[in-house]
Amino acid sequence: MDHPLFADDMKLTPYWWDDAPRPDVPKNALPDQVDVAIIGAGYTGLTAALVLARAGRNVLVLEKGEIGVGCSSRNGGQIGSGVKPGLDELTKRYGRDGAVAMLREGYASLDYIKTFVKAEGIDCDFRNSGRFIGAHRANRYEQMAQNFESLKGIVPIEWEMVPKAEMHNEIGSDAYFGGAIMPHHAGLQPAKYVNGLYERSAAAGAQIETETLVIGIDKESGGSAVVTDRGKVKAREVIVATNGYTTRLTPGLQRRLIPIGSYMIATEEIPDDVMARLSPKQRVMNDTRKVVYYFTTSPDHKRMVFGGRVALKETDPKISGPRLHAVMAGIWPDLKDVKISHSWMGFVAYTFDHLPHIGQRDGVWFSMGYCGSGVAWASYLGHKLAHKVLGDEEGKTAFDGISFPTRPLYTGDPWFLGVAVAYYQAMDRWGP
Ligand SMILES: Cc1cc2nc3c(=O)[nH]c(=O)nc-3n(C[C@H](O)[C@H](O)[C@H](O)COP(=O)(O)OP(=O)(O)OC[C@H]3O[C@@H](n4cnc5c(N)ncnc54)[C@H](O)[C@@H]3O)c2cc1C
Repeated sequence: MDHPLFADDMKLTPYWWDDAPRPDVPKNALPDQVDVAIIGAGYTGLTAALVLARAGRNVLVLEKGEIGVGCSSRNGGQIGSGVKPGLDELTKRYGRDGAVAMLREGYASLDYIKTFVKAEGIDCDFRNSGRFIGAHRANRYEQMAQNFESLKGIVPIEWEMVPKAEMHNEIGSDAYFGGAIMPHHAGLQPAKYVNGLYERSAAAGAQIETETLVIGIDKESGGSAVVTDRGKVKAREVIVATNGYTTRLTPGLQRRLIPIGSYMIATEEIPDDVMARLSPKQRVMNDTRKVVYYFTTSPDHKRMVFGGRVALKETDPKISGPRLHAVMAGIWPDLKDVKISHSWMGFVAYTFDHLPHIGQRDGVWFSMGYCGSGVAWASYLGHKLAHKVLGDEEGKTAFDGISFPTRPLYTGDPWFLGVAVAYYQAMDRWGP
């Protein structure tokens, strides 16, 4: 490849796949009939499959590509506790109790994934790293402090402000105006995690068929006929777990989701002494921009893995790679000559109200719209969704029954994305 920043053997696949390739999945004949058909083998679909198979249901997972090939093997692996809208905004929409319940559920999702990974013994380089959030403008430091203070006693939030003078204990950079630490946030190797979910759900008895595209869901008496490019399967219940890869297969869901490309790079190995200076605590990190950058060290602490949005319209990882590198070198000038070993992208699903959604629509079950924070949300809500299908109390969430908004004439093609990204970039630079 032909950019001075590209390593000779630069790959356009996620760095995570080097250590955790997509699993070889045995191909079996499709059954005539199942209790539950699940479309999509990412965190949502596989977590739901695991719960349902362990509850004795006959489960079939249908994935058009390979295991986790959507977002679930290509993300930043950062785990937080957040719901995007703040307390005031949520209170306006759902009342104080509804707002508090939603915010608390963010913390429940963080606890859930920590407990789950440990209980299942999934080898995914899980680390209780804590998070550093850099204030990209001076007023953002104060705003963060006020925001965290306002949540004290309402949610189990813990944080520590880091003034600029002490910032080098956290990040070897002068690019930020101080920051904050969220000690309970965590990180994992996303491709190892999804492979672990695959192994657990297959061991629990779920049948998982990759390279199997679902092309239709027809209502029939007693359930649905799920039509694939390999034949038809009758299912009593159908779960749609397609998030940022949702298509015309489910138009009612597609018109409620905004697919947005998120881009990542990994660097070549960096000397240990430099890494120790740039990221002394090996935390997951991001900054206060709305058009956010997120970054961390590789599990072996030898490379930077850096992500964000660097284009108004979707672009090619060969173009996004050098642009992400420029932002990274703005934060850490020491890295201006380090080469890019991997550059890739994937589609997250935003929603018009910036909340995840779970429930039933047009006769299918769904959980999606994690707004770029799906490592914990997809796992937690995938588990909730399975309990909804089982009809038990464990399936209840604070998101039950809220409306899942769309916009007039919107069908799923976000033609307005460039304008929206430009607006948020302007707000990041000049906004209040
Ligand atoms: C670059 C990037 C960085 C990210 N970083 C973070 C992060 O640091 N922290 C965080 O919390 N979240 C992050 N996310 C978001 C997170 O990865 C997702 O929210 C999460 O993986 C969603 O999981 P899922 O199972 O719902 O969807 P996916 O993993 O996207 O799975 C959906 C699957 O559905 C399949 N599918 C679609 N249509 C069909 C069909 N018709 N038939 C069969 N199969 C079909 C797709 O092939 C796909 O595999 C990031 C995402 C990206 C792209």
